[in-house]
Order: sequence, then structure tokens, then C-alpha cells
Amino acid sequence: MNYINSSGFAHDLDLNDPLKHFREKFYFPQMQGRDVIYFTGNSLGLQPKTTQDYVLNELEDWANFGVEGHFHARKPWMPYHEQFADPLAVLVGALPEEVVVMNQLTVNLHLLMVSFYRPNAKRFKILCEARAFPSDQYALESQVKFHGFDPSEAILEVFPREGEHCLRTEDIQAAIDKNKDELALVLIGGVNYYTGQAFDMKAIAEAAHAAGSCVGFDLAHATGNIELQLHDWNVDFACWCSYKYLNSGPGSVAGVFIHTKHLGRNDIPRFAGWWGHDKASRFRMEKGFVPIPTAEAWQMSNAPVFSMAAHKAAIDIFSEAGMVNLVKKSRKLTGFLEFILDDINSKTKQGAQKLEIITPRDEQQRGCQISILAHGRGKELFDKLTEAGVISDWREPNVIRCAPVPLYNSYTDVFRFGQILAQFC
Ligand SMILES: *Cc1c(COP(=O)(O)O)cnc(C)c1O
Repeated sequence: MNYINSSGFAHDLDLNDPLKHFREKFYFPQMQGRDVIYFTGNSLGLQPKTTQDYVLNELEDWANFGVEGHFHARKPWMPYHEQFADPLAVLVGALPEEVVVMNQLTVNLHLLMVSFYRPNAKRFKILCEARAFPSDQYALESQVKFHGFDPSEAILEVFPREGEHCLRTEDIQAAIDKNKDELALVLIGGVNYYTGQAFDMKAIAEAAHAAGSCVGFDLAHATGNIELQLHDWNVDFACWCSYKYLNSGPGSVAGVFIHTKHLGRNDIPRFAGWWGHDKASRFRMEKGFVPIPTAEAWQMSNAPVFSMAAHKAAIDIFSEAGMVNLVKKSRKLTGFLEFILDDINSKTKQGAQKLEIITPRDEQQRGCQISILAHGRGKELFDKLTEAGVISDWREPNVIRCAPVPLYNSYTDVFRFGQILAQFC
């Protein structure tokens, strides 16, 4: 695509954008009577205008029915979570029985590791990417310790090569192969939160299995951002949150994938609760856990209906837009941002520090995020952007993350962002 850094060009792209009307479905924070340029959908997605109604319906049904709402609410609470199986299966490339919505992300990561990190004296290591999201690092460390191993021995981090910011697939594969007799689990963030790099999950899953290891992905930055085929990639398990690209509200309920090959098995340990128990006999309240033969077996508690209502509002919008269409726009929109950053760099004064893009240039290896390394003056630049009405995201020591989200950001947002940024460069 040949881009031009002009308002007319951006305007034309917006006019011809088949997804343009989706922007109207979201509330934008305001600054001086105008929509801010919201580039933090990777941190907290915007609120759909329909969310209030979805949540309000449940509050009304609770008022009207009390406990009977479990059966008589417009969307009965008892099977409330079941409505997510089909749309989420489409979103992550799974079978409906392989997905379930429950708890929150870090909690689910722990629960899945209970099942899929089963170390023994010989095989006890976990391989992950260096600089994984801190919550994941803490989860891995504490799981390792829980099993009586030393994190400094048991956790293997794969680092980028000297002078590079992203990981090479071949380096991940080589690290897996090198540790093939000791690996119990490969756990990687599907899209790295810091660099925005999307990993080749199919290749990583293959390498992990060839080494006799389980493989899981934290898809917090991947679900709703890139196309996923978890079932076909033969991933053992995955988990994600719903408040980033999935726009389901702060701390909202999270999602889980467990490959069908692990379903309906009694030899896999799990922490159980009544909501994972066979539905037909659940209310007999008898001893002896009988797991539901789907990913629901990992549920412990009954559905948190209010956060699930918000999640449903957001997922309905994804179903309407379609992930294939979103990815198509995402590539064009992110490509436009990349082009504008390059254009700004080409015009900076001689000797001035350039903005370094640390996200992969290859569109197959990224979603809609561009991370900019601002060499020494990142915080100052970030503060100026914020004052000028740009909501982006700051990460120590020097990175500004920008996520033009295809569902609600426009090409004009990207153009305006470039105009503002250029003033400070
Ligand atoms: C956002 C994010 C989290 C946050 O975890 P919560 O349990 O939802 O607070 C964890 N891991 C990754 C990779 C993330 O991007």
C-alpha cells in the first residue's frame, strides 16, 4: 500500500473503510469538547454504548425475579456462560467445547498450570520469553516454588539477540530443543505486551510437542487483535483477559481454551468446584466430582453475571464485525501509523534523536500495536502527547506504546497523532 501523510488521504481511507460505522458504537473520552486520540485499547478497551443496557437488563431481572432469575431471567443465569462458547470459539479458532469464560486472567493461568505444569525430578523446567508480563512472571515463579523447585534453575527465559528487540522463532525453537529432556512447559505471551511482537504459535507448539513438553499461551494481547487457530495449532491451553482488545470493562471476566484432547479425562489434575461438575447431577449435592466433558470442567464458581453481561455486549460487536475484516483493517491502519512515524523520522533535524520502532516491521509478526523507543526523552514526549489529547501508554524505561484499534480508531486519528507528534520531534 502506498500511503500519503495528508489529511485528505486519511479522510479518503476513512470514507472507504467498511468498518467505519463501528466507531459510533463506542464512547470516547473527551478533551476540550473533542474525542481524544485513544491509542490504549491494548490496555483498556473503550466502552461500547450497548454495555449499559446489557448490564441494566441483568440488574432489572435480579430486581424482578430474585433467585428465580437463574431460570426466568431473559438470559437465565444458570447457563449464562454457555452463550460465549460459540462466538469465542470463532474468535480464537477453537471448538465450542474447548472454550469457557471464568474468573480473571492470572487466576486462570494458575488453574491451568495446576493441570498442565506437572513437573517431575527430570522434567521440571518452564520456557518463556524474557520480559514476560510481570503477573505471568510471578505466576510462573510461584508455581515452580509450589512444586519445590528453584525458579533460577527451573525458569528458562529466551532473550532477543544482541542489538535486537524481538525474538526470532528459530531461537525459541533452538532453546526448546536444547532443553528437550527437561522441559515440562513452554509458556509464551501470544503477542508480547511490550514490543507488540506476535509469535509464531504454530511453530512454537510444534517444537514444544517434539520436545515432549506441554505448551500454553497467554493471549491477553492477542485475543481480539490477531487471527488465532488454537485448535489447529494443537495448543494445549491458553488464557486471556477481556478488558484489553475485547472491550469488556476493567477487571472483567476472562477466557480459557483447553484443547479437546485434554477434555473428558480424569487423569488430569484440576482444582474443582461445583460449576465444573456434571450439570445433570450438580444439584444432588453429592460427594464425588464428575467433570463436565468440556472446558467448563475447569469452572469452579457460578457465573459473575454483571461482568459477563458487559462481556456479551462487547463480543456481540466482534461477531458483527468479524475478525477477518478487523485484521484486514488493522494491517492497513497500523501500516499507516508506521509510515507516518517513518515520515516524521525522515524530517527530523540532523543530529536529533529518531523514534525507533521496536515492533516487527513484518505485518505477520504484529497486531495493531506499534511500540516506539524514544531514546532518553520518552517520558517528556509522552507527557506532551497526553497534554495534546493523545492517550497512549508509557512503559519504563523509554517506550511509548500506541495501539490504533481497527474497531474504533480511524485513519484520521493516526494522521492527527502524526501531526501532534511531529511538533515535538
Ligand atoms: C494484562 C495482562 C495481565 C493482567 O492480568 P490480570 O489477572 O487480568 O490482572 C496478565 N498477563 C498479561 C500477559 C497481560 O497482558
